[in-house]
Amino acid sequence: MKCLPQVTTLDQITRAWMMHLIVSSLLACALPLSAAPAKSISILLPPKSSKVVEHAGQILSRQITRRCKSSITNNGVADVNIELAIDPQLSAEGYGITTTPAGATRIMGGDERGLIYGVGKFLRTSRFDVEGFTPGTWFRVSTPACPVRGVYFATHFNNFYEAAPLEEVREYVDELALWGVNHLQVTFPRWHFTGFEDPAAQKALERLKQIMRSAKLAGMKATLLIAANDDFKSTPVEFLRVPVPDPLKRRGDFGVNLCPSNPKAHALLLKDWARLLDEFTDIGLNAVEFWPYDEGGCGCTNCWPWGARGFPNLSRDLSRIARDKFPGIKVILSTWTFDTPPAGEWEGLARFIAMDRNWVDYIQADSHEDFPRYPIEHGVPGGLPLLNFPEISMWGQSPWGGYGANPLPDRLQRLWNQARKKPAGRFPYSALSGGFPYSEGIYEDINKAVCAQLYWDGNRPTIETIREYVAFEFSPDVVDAVTKAVMLLESNHDRKKIGSSAQDAFLLLEDSEQKMTPQARKSWRWRILYLRALIDRELLETKGRLQGETLKRAFQELTTIYHAEQAHSMPIHPPVIK
Ligand SMILES: [Zn+2]
Repeated sequence: MKCLPQVTTLDQITRAWMMHLIVSSLLACALPLSAAPAKSISILLPPKSSKVVEHAGQILSRQITRRCKSSITNNGVADVNIELAIDPQLSAEGYGITTTPAGATRIMGGDERGLIYGVGKFLRTSRFDVEGFTPGTWFRVSTPACPVRGVYFATHFNNFYEAAPLEEVREYVDELALWGVNHLQVTFPRWHFTGFEDPAAQKALERLKQIMRSAKLAGMKATLLIAANDDFKSTPVEFLRVPVPDPLKRRGDFGVNLCPSNPKAHALLLKDWARLLDEFTDIGLNAVEFWPYDEGGCGCTNCWPWGARGFPNLSRDLSRIARDKFPGIKVILSTWTFDTPPAGEWEGLARFIAMDRNWVDYIQADSHEDFPRYPIEHGVPGGLPLLNFPEISMWGQSPWGGYGANPLPDRLQRLWNQARKKPAGRFPYSALSGGFPYSEGIYEDINKAVCAQLYWDGNRPTIETIREYVAFEFSPDVVDAVTKAVMLLESNHDRKKIGSSAQDAFLLLEDSEQKMTPQARKSWRWRILYLRALIDRELLETKGRLQGETLKRAFQELTTIYHAEQAHSMPIHPPVIK
């Protein structure tokens, strides 16, 4: 369950596959690479393909035709022939890419998920030019290190996940799968609604189910996150919690949180939880996560310390209901803002789980800033596998995404290293088994790719993922320049400390743009990166003042890309200049 480095796990495949790979790689090396980009591409699926395998083929086809003018056939006779296959000799969720004696590229997954991840690697190591497509020659096998490679879509506040046309969200889910994401998590904020019959609640639930169906088609597991003790805004006031101590203003509380030590409130929480789970019967939930604060928490004498008493008690009851309804479902317990400030929550949770750990499968830990020290210094409660929760969305910029892309490869590397550090003390440290980056939209797409690849291979530097991202999304010809620009953008992340390098970052991107295809130049990923550099340069000149036509148009374009026109008052709408 640990994130051990496994860039290429040849030991996990059979000797026959090794020989096949070696021979075919030698063949590939011996074959002259096509000098001219391919105009026609054939994609062949294995016979009796599952829906996910068929979808892998559709994703591959869509990605190629969107990026160049090459056409797709399925007749096996084209400039470039690609075969998709399942090979159970490969590791679960792993993949291998090779060539056949006839010169076709064969992408093989250990299972249908692995096939999608192999398609992703193949795409990222190929070229897309105005003249057509040049297939990659990355012929290796790869196996993921972490079993839980998730993304959490915070489905609220009319952000991208709520407001964008469903087809855009579906495509985005597919594109995350290409990076190895295998869990998609959504939430249902009950405190927004009066009850299940509230038309707004029905609309939100239908949206969640549609997103979950897309996730399943892309080979992902469907995960539901819920604040353990929140409920509908129609809840009787006598059921409500005692506010939790929050001297550092980190725990959040603007919802409808109930006191589970009140028997009637407890019964209502269990009843509404069971009803909520029934909404997903036809989808089939694979995991649930219980959240302690923001929303959540009760500070009464029976519940406090919440993380040590009220929260695990209630979560255990909720866990049993979930397992009754979905046998085999995994239960994740979040420890977000535990002991902020210290209140004995980690220690209390460890004692609680030491007495009974049969209701929870994973502990999740993360924080606003540094990775929490308790699981590193004392071990994870119950010896359970540990997940992280990287904050890739809100940190350091408000409105969130309001200035375009917010790449944070250096910060994410630093936090990852903190979570992996082996202590000098006597407690063995369980390395991470994956996690769920927190996402409020698409502007942190680069950060999602970075996290997904850390879960795939924790030893791979984040900057290497940036280079692969740039080569795929923009052009292999601009990798050095755009990677440098990304680093400069991160150095100017703090809106109050934009330095003169903002000018350099903009010039690097402006120069790179000349070397890219029209398709890449028009893509939203390029536009949000380019606009970020443009906005930084403008803010450098205006000394931080939001003024002028250039900034106005940049913010308007971001708003259109995010579908943020009707965004909630929470800071997810880019700035508006009248
Ligand atoms: Zn209470």
